[in-house]
Amino acid sequence: FSAENASVNIQSPSKPCMSIPKVSRIFQPSNLREGYEGGDMTCRSQRLMLQAGLIHPSNPGCFYYLPTALRSLEKLVRIIDEEMQAIGGQKVDMPALCAAELWRRSGRWELMGKEMFRLQDRHDIEYCLGPTHEEAVTELLASQSTLSYRQLPLLLYQVTRKFRDEQKPKFGLLRGREFYMKDMYSFDISEEAAQQTYESVCHAYGRLFNRLGLRWVQVQADTGKIGGTLSHEFQLPADVGEDRLLFCNNCTFSANVETVNTEETNCPQCHTGTLNESKGIEVGHTFYLGTKYSEVFNAMFINSQNKPMVAEMGCFGLGVTRILAASVEVLSTEDAIRWPGLLAPYQVCIQPPKKGSKTHSATHLAEELAQSLGDCLPNLRGEVVLDDRTQLTIGKRLKDASRLGYPYVVVVGQKAMEEQPLFEVLCQGTGETMFLSKEALVDLL
Ligand code: ATP
Ligand code: MG
Ligand code: MG
Ligand code: MG
Repeated sequence: FSAENASVNIQSPSKPCMSIPKVSRIFQPSNLREGYEGGDMTCRSQRLMLQAGLIHPSNPGCFYYLPTALRSLEKLVRIIDEEMQAIGGQKVDMPALCAAELWRRSGRWELMGKEMFRLQDRHDIEYCLGPTHEEAVTELLASQSTLSYRQLPLLLYQVTRKFRDEQKPKFGLLRGREFYMKDMYSFDISEEAAQQTYESVCHAYGRLFNRLGLRWVQVQADTGKIGGTLSHEFQLPADVGEDRLLFCNNCTFSANVETVNTEETNCPQCHTGTLNESKGIEVGHTFYLGTKYSEVFNAMFINSQNKPMVAEMGCFGLGVTRILAASVEVLSTEDAIRWPGLLAPYQVCIQPPKKGSKTHSATHLAEELAQSLGDCLPNLRGEVVLDDRTQLTIGKRLKDASRLGYPYVVVVGQKAMEEQPLFEVLCQGTGETMFLSKEALVDLL
């Protein structure tokens, strides 16, 4: 170690030099055996994600998320973070290991039944692997003896793995036993304030699904084992969905069948319309809890008269891995993945000419283009891949690219070698093919 080295270290930029990811080097093993059907346990998104090497099956309802899928998942989490923080959400991370004692106090240790993964430590103390965190977060708040009304509303959220021993894990990431959820918990000074918080979270959910370009509906829902008095689900209409939804043909009423008195065929809201049924994938769920948990755990705040009061609560879930798979489910074709633009693992794939072909000498142009797109457009840094499998025909590589769903594929061929070089650009969203100069391509992207 010398002073000379030290100064080099201090001066070197913190950003690592970007190398262009090469398709041949991305760990993306296809997991689909020839002729694999998977029966009623599989669906389009599961099949496509296995085929493209995005996920790898482990125990029932558990998956390895491989590098390409993880890029999408991390993009989704960043967008969720933006939306939750825009309404004042603060990110935390709570232990997955939850003491049975807390769940006994809320009465849910028994209620959760077989869906809960239970275990004991070396001292025979019982725990569960958190299926949700109302107990934990309320206990956390209850430990704060000086929480003031000035600090409310308080919105704490996390994006963590949840564990549920589902009776029938199926449809890949749509119903896992170990999955990512965003769960937010709100604490307010009054019922009225809690209702406002509830509304603002519902709006944030709407914005999120709009940004992803997904068709979604918000329906009234059952409060189930979580409890409370008001609840909505965010659903993506899809035939593979396991939820049955009712929509009135006359008014705005919409609900999950689980809530609705199905003896009646008329709409419970307008009483004249009839209810039509369709299927949906539940991607989010909001609950107004009132003081159900805060009373049990004594989660209090000091009000403006300096008196301790029980906080009003809400809880708000988003199925993160379910949203990823559900987007693939509803946007893709039978044999090609289509992503919400913001979630595509990579934005651009560049196709150099085939090895030994007469345009082979354009290979370096492809490499230069990949490098310079990232340099010209900072938001494309790390988003451009080079399909260096040049022993394969362009046709075969384009088929793979379509299957993986890059929003833009750029073919470097004959026209790239001309005096005014042009690149063939395939746009996934519109299905268009264009020949563009590098400048026009940069503008497009
Ligand atoms: P479902 O009715 O599909 O079993 P839930 O009503 O039990 O879901 P919640 O307790 O409302 O689920 O959890 C919040 C969100 O977590 C759900 O809206 C869903 O998007 C997601 N989720 C729930 N269970 C799973 C699972 N097994 N795999 C993936 N995501 C899930
Ligand atoms: Mg469930
Ligand atoms: Mg449900
Ligand atoms: Mg639910």
